[in-house]
Amino acid sequence: VVTTGDDFVTTRTLLSPFFCHFDLPPKRDGGAASITADPLDILRYFSPLPGPNPGHGVKYALHKAARPISRGIPSIMARIAVDMDDVIADTLAKVLDEFNRRHGLHLSKSDLIGAHFHEILAVDQHRNLMSMVLEDTFFGDLPVMPHAAAVLERLSKHHEIFIATAAMEVPTSFNAKYQWLLTHFPFIAPLKIVFCGDKSIINADYLIDDNPRHFARFIGTGILFDSPQNAHAKGYHRVHSWLEVEEYFKNIQAQKESTVSAN
Ligand SMILES: [Mg+2]
Repeated sequence: VVTTGDDFVTTRTLLSPFFCHFDLPPKRDGGAASITADPLDILRYFSPLPGPNPGHGVKYALHKAARPISRGIPSIMARIAVDMDDVIADTLAKVLDEFNRRHGLHLSKSDLIGAHFHEILAVDQHRNLMSMVLEDTFFGDLPVMPHAAAVLERLSKHHEIFIATAAMEVPTSFNAKYQWLLTHFPFIAPLKIVFCGDKSIINADYLIDDNPRHFARFIGTGILFDSPQNAHAKGYHRVHSWLEVEEYFKNIQAQKESTVSAN
């Protein structure tokens, strides 16, 4: 992951077990910083090739993440990444309501048990649905999943919570999603919101998601949030509600506390 700007802390703590700080020369008065370091040093850092010791402005800091991932915070805390669509937002309900309204249909969640829209809609209908979700404001008024806000606020007192949404699938959704999160989950700081593509880059202890494909290369434990479309997915810990999520983490916390006190 290569980032720009001053988000080193987020980069170091969330995204990567290997963190390189690319040191820039100090800004001159009013002038933009420019890179004077040799980019080949980055290559040397990641390869075993011998090379001259970096001596022209590049500093490296290597932080190997040790389990538990949440270093620096009490060991009973977990870092929990939470998906947005169909986990804290009932996106499917909005899609169905709006699509039915526009096209005089009567599709329901039960039509999507173990199926995706492209499997139950004609090609032109599916095209209409995709252009509907690409509208800038579509994600701005999603219903909040029952108990999601209250449970996440309670969990945030004991654990580190991040929202990780694969927003790159619908890039037009960024602003509406961000505003929605600020409105309904104001206790989650903007620096703990991650708009991403492939979630395997997320460095957390748990990922709560309705799409099991995000668990394939995820470093931590995947928790499958039940939805009609994942009804047939097997091999994951499945939760059916946010109250069940809360119970799951109460049990995890109790186990950790008993381990800590036993030691
Ligand atoms: Mg989702």
